[in-house]
Formats: sequence, structure tokens, C-alpha cells
Amino acid sequence: MMARAPTSHSLQSTLLAVRLKERMARDGPISVETYVEACLTDKDAGYYPSRQPIGADGDFITAPEVSQVFGELLGLWAIAVWQSMGTPSPITIAELGPGRGTLMADAIRTWRKVPDFQKSARVVLVETSPVLREVQQIALSGAETDISWCERFDAVPEGPLIVLANEFIDALPVRQFVWRAPAWRERCVSIGARGGFAFCEGKTVLEAGAPDADKMREMMRDMPDGAILEIRPAADAHVAAFGARALAAPFAGLIIDYGHEETALGDTLQAVSQHAFADPLKAPGEVDLTAHVDFAALKDTSRAHGLVVYGPKPQGALLLTLGLEARRDRLCENAGEDQRQDIVSGTNRLVDPSAMGLLFKALAVTSKGLAPPPGFEDI
Ligand code: SAH
Repeated sequence: MMARAPTSHSLQSTLLAVRLKERMARDGPISVETYVEACLTDKDAGYYPSRQPIGADGDFITAPEVSQVFGELLGLWAIAVWQSMGTPSPITIAELGPGRGTLMADAIRTWRKVPDFQKSARVVLVETSPVLREVQQIALSGAETDISWCERFDAVPEGPLIVLANEFIDALPVRQFVWRAPAWRERCVSIGARGGFAFCEGKTVLEAGAPDADKMREMMRDMPDGAILEIRPAADAHVAAFGARALAAPFAGLIIDYGHEETALGDTLQAVSQHAFADPLKAPGEVDLTAHVDFAALKDTSRAHGLVVYGPKPQGALLLTLGLEARRDRLCENAGEDQRQDIVSGTNRLVDPSAMGLLFKALAVTSKGLAPPPGFEDI
């Protein structure tokens, strides 16, 4: 694992802050979306390109890091979906934002039992961060599967495709609007009175050209002053690309993330550093910035692009339906006492409603004509 280097990151962060302030002094406030994008993806100082943030000694922990059962169940999910597609060969398994490569390493292990799938599968990891790509290469160095990397989903080869995306959508920038009667205004970031960053309001939706202007006009009635609405253009662009793939070849995607089932008003932009909440406007590039995933919006966009939609289903319910308990018990049989406790506490955390079981949700999207994917037959 990469060592964290706080001093150089702080310097990078300061340099990014200086660059953003120079830009604001020249061109005026920037949108929240532009600010978040710069903080997360700036080539020199962006949060993801400059570090490995996941794990107990990083900033946050994710399901594949909590228990190997998560990746294993998703690996088996992919096999069952491939069978429902009529066992095409080759079949591409693309993972978006693979983090440390743990999910894919655990998934690939399950493929040994189905040699035809293993022979047909080619894995493509879509990752923008050079640091994480290196971590993934090490994690997957022994894998008996054809693996390649690309930076954008557009570069994933054509043909039958299964997409896995865990905590990927929440890392895509949100765009925020604030209701100031009679209009929604873009929420922006500018230089504040004390020289730091501060939120402010910019152009109206119409002036700023928001893609969802019609939907936002519909929501205008009785809006409390200052209400905040979030949209996520980068998520919509991914879903549109899934829809295009699904027209040309069998397609299934599994999106797992934290968020809400219904579109709700409110600011969900949050910063996390070393497992604690932080100020999103302090230390740009130094803290993780995410926002809740709006599953209702994802569903609408998916349908609008011709995809069949299943869910969202709570992560806990999905993993239990996919056989989490049987897999846990099998692992426990071959484990020592300490390991057994880890296996049980890890799997509990994934499904416990007060831990990750309810807040995290899974949405499946497929091309037309496929059977409902495993775990979604009852929806
Ligand atoms: N899925 C992993 C990691 C989640 S963190 C897990 O569950 O542990 C988010 C991941 O998405 C990181 O790998 C980050 O580098 C990657 N990422 C963020 N924005 C991206 C983008 N626009 N395109 C591709 N990858 C991106």
C-alpha cells in the first residue's frame, strides 16, 4: 500500500487552492461541480490521482475491504448474468472505479469453478488515478484472467458487457442549485471575506443551461427559500453510455452506492478525512468529497436510455439473497477462531441495517430481453 505523505499533499493542496483562487479572481465564482471536479481529479493535486485513500489507515472504508464475501458474491452474480445472456464469448466485465482492486480479486477467484466463464471473461478496469491503477496491478498480479485498464468508460471494448460499480457514482461531482424565488440559481464557490473559500450563488438555471431545467421548473412550486437541489451530469452521461451499449449487445450493470431512493432537496456534499467529517471548502484535494446518490434520478435516466431497471434494493437484502450466509459459513468452517470472528463481523457489517445494509443500495440495469438478474427476481 502507498504510504501517505501529508506534508507534500498539504503543499499540493495549498498550490491547488492558489490556482483556484487565481481563477476565481480572474473569471469570478466557479460552480460547485467545477470545484468538486478540480478537488477530486486535478492531475497534480486531485484527491484520487495523488493517493490511495481506502482502508483502515486511509480516509474511508468500502464494502470489498470489509469482507471478501462482497466481491465473491458479485463474481458469482456476473457468472449467472453471463449464463442468462446465453454464455457469449468473449464477455467483458468492466469495473468502474476499482479502488484497491479487492472486489475484482475476490470476484476472479470465484470464476475458477466455471472454466468456460473464466476463459471467456476479459476484465477491464476503468480508473483515472495512476496511483490506484498501480495498487490494482499489484492486487491482481496473480489473477488467471485477461485484465486491462482504461481511463474512461468510452474506451471499454464493444460487445456483451457486465458492469460493476461500487461507490463509483458517489465520487462523481454533483451540481447544486439553490432556490431563490422565482428561480433556481447555480450554487458556486468564491473567495470569502476572510480569504478562504465560501459558497455563493451564481446564474439562474436558464442562464447557466442546466440539463434538467424542465424537471427543475416542475419542482418550483412552494419551494422554501434556500432549498438545494442536486443533479449529477457525470452519472447521467455514464447511464446514457450504458444505454447505447445495451442497444448493440447484451448488457447488465450493477451499481451499488449510498444514497436515497427518492429525489430529495438538501445539500448532501460531504468531506471525509481519516474516517471523520471535514469541511468541504478547506484543503482542496486533501479530503474526499462525495454526495448521496439519487437513485430515483438514476432510474429515470436509465429508463430514458432504454434500459430495464431493477431496484434499488438495500445492499443487505441483496447480499442475503445472493447467499451471503452460506458463503460466510463455508469460510468459517476452514478458519481459526480469530479469523472466524473477523469473517462474522465483516459480513454482519455489510448487511446490518444500522451499518451498511440499508444506507447502501443496489440498482441493476440491463438490456431488454434478459431475465431479471440474480437477487432482483422479486422486484
Ligand atoms: N470501488 C472501490 C473504490 C471506491 S472509491 C471500492 O469499493 O473500494 C472511488 C473510485 O473511483 C476510485 O478508484 C477512484 O480513483 C475512481 N474514480 C473516481 N472518479 C473517477 C472517474 N471519473 N473515472 C474513473 N474512475 C474514477
